[in-house]
Amino acid sequence: MEENKIQLDCLLNADLHCHSRCSDGTLAPAELALLVKEHGVQLWALTDHDDLSGVKEAAAASQKIGLPFLAGVEISTCFGAESIHVVGLGVDADDVVLQQGLSEIRQGRNQRAQKIAQALEKLGIKDALAGALRYAGNPDVISRAHFSRFLVGQGICKDNADAFNRFLRKGKPAYVEHEWISMEECLSWIHGAQGVAVLAHPGRYRGLSKNQRRNLFTEFCALGGGGVEVVTGNHSTEEMVQYTQMAQHYGLLASRGSDFHSPDESRICPGALPLLNSNADPVWRVMANRIIY
Ligand code: AMP
Ligand code: MN
Ligand code: MN
Ligand code: MN
Repeated sequence: MEENKIQLDCLLNADLHCHSRCSDGTLAPAELALLVKEHGVQLWALTDHDDLSGVKEAAAASQKIGLPFLAGVEISTCFGAESIHVVGLGVDADDVVLQQGLSEIRQGRNQRAQKIAQALEKLGIKDALAGALRYAGNPDVISRAHFSRFLVGQGICKDNADAFNRFLRKGKPAYVEHEWISMEECLSWIHGAQGVAVLAHPGRYRGLSKNQRRNLFTEFCALGGGGVEVVTGNHSTEEMVQYTQMAQHYGLLASRGSDFHSPDESRICPGALPLLNSNADPVWRVMANRIIY
């Protein structure tokens, strides 16, 4: 093994879920690379929502500071009525089918954003689309997080949690149902781009019954899904244990990621989560040939 190569075991401080301003994070990809390195992360992945435009900058910045990097993307999909996120790790960011597919999802996001703005207008909140766009680092990717920042910036909400609880989350007046792509299509794009598909933050899908959750795992495995996030900023300690067991049960590799968005907003800093349990099988074990050094 070359000297600069990292040991791909459970003790690795890997953070394989981070957002830049190319989606709904607030830092540029190169700034994020520096911050992640400062926090002691040894391997990281940029995983912007439905977008790969930050990958080149992140890879170049990481190489410059000697930080191993994986190209990634967090794709929005549908499983029944629940919106499910799938992280593609080690993808070829130039893959044309993946690029085209993501571009279609972004168009759908755009249409949804117009409907969210109309819903807010009905509630007396004007110009929310233009307002949200002021917070978007990449006008191609408009997320509810941008609407949330707008609502906070206007003094309508006291923080992002308040904006989601009163307006943006499911069941609230500015929530808009949206048909994302199927998991089947999503996994075929990730696999076509030589990536590994990882089920993101499974503990967050609160709309799923126990049975539906099992079906989600079964279907994800049947489609060739490779891993699941067990240690994530979205999981409680109990959920980390529970999903480490689920990963073993379903023969999925275990992933770890903060889901970092912003130094001002994120509770969890990159790399600050517990390490994987020593009995977990880390997803980075199979990614040696995808890591950019
Ligand atoms: P979208 O993909 O546009 O539906 O937006 C989802 C994004 O909104 C997530 O990736 C988070 O960045 C953010 N988000 C979702 N729920 C919350 C919440 N309760 N509080 C703060 N941010 C949230
Ligand atoms: Mn987000
Ligand atoms: Mn997510
Ligand atoms: Mn995320």
